[in-house]
Amino acid sequence: HQIFASARIGIAASSSGYTRADDILRDAAIALTRATVSSAPYEIFDPAMRQRAITRLQFETDLRKAIDEEAFEMHYQPIIALASGRIAGFEALLRWRHPSRGLVQPSDFIEVAEDTGMIIDIGRLTLAESCRQMAEWLARYVAAAPQMMCANVSSKQLADPGLMADIAATLRTTGLAAAHLKLEITESAFINDVPRAQATLNHARSMGVGWSLDDFGTGFSSLSFLHRLQVDTVKVDQSFVAEIGPAASGSAMVKAIVGLGHTLGMDVVAEGVETAEQAAALRKIGCEYAQGFYFSKA
Ligand code: MG
Ligand code: MG
Repeated sequence: HQIFASARIGIAASSSGYTRADDILRDAAIALTRATVSSAPYEIFDPAMRQRAITRLQFETDLRKAIDEEAFEMHYQPIIALASGRIAGFEALLRWRHPSRGLVQPSDFIEVAEDTGMIIDIGRLTLAESCRQMAEWLARYVAAAPQMMCANVSSKQLADPGLMADIAATLRTTGLAAAHLKLEITESAFINDVPRAQATLNHARSMGVGWSLDDFGTGFSSLSFLHRLQVDTVKVDQSFVAEIGPAASGSAMVKAIVGLGHTLGMDVVAEGVETAEQAAALRKIGCEYAQGFYFSKA
């Protein structure tokens, strides 16, 4: 075999007043890390890089501590059945109660959690808490309770061989019936290995757990995925819902996605519904479910 190798170089200049060999090597290593991430052939160290590295390290340390101390909380956003106006279920949304930053949204820490693999532990905690809460509501309100808890699963979790055992254990300890749990996954989770991801989906489905394809329409190959994956629900991304206005043309995309979902035997949730007009249009189109600020925040 012919092998092609490439190299990256991290450079720290000796003019910066170093007195210890370790310090200049450390800074060269920081520059090298940056070169690797940016895929530039080389990077020259500057002090801002060290500051960024320290900030990132502190953030990682905080996040690790948060896992130990379980400093996360779940906020639940109602998913409304449009035909009846009743709450059909909830999407469990993760928040991190940071000691100095306050409540941190997942968009601000999930990337770090994924890069470091901490997402596996965080995912386990959030799944356990969502299931525990749902089981409690079902026990307290019985038939009057919303019947579905939707938990987000990241691509790293989906690829984790321990995921199915975690789900089974969580259902067992919380006493939640599998039929009340639905997992949300985005298309990006399938990009690397579709057959393997589908096998995981099928395994969960055989246990009675449902799946939603989240943020549909924002990925690269939405249509082919929707056709190939066996999921129960498709969630129309809020960017399409936001287009629904007074003009009939605004709802064309949502209408098409709802029709496609129905043809493939899926039910449809519209995300990011913010106005009465959008809710009415979605009801008219025949979209089963909706969530968004118009109904309730998390
Ligand atoms: Mg989601
Ligand atoms: Mg979503």
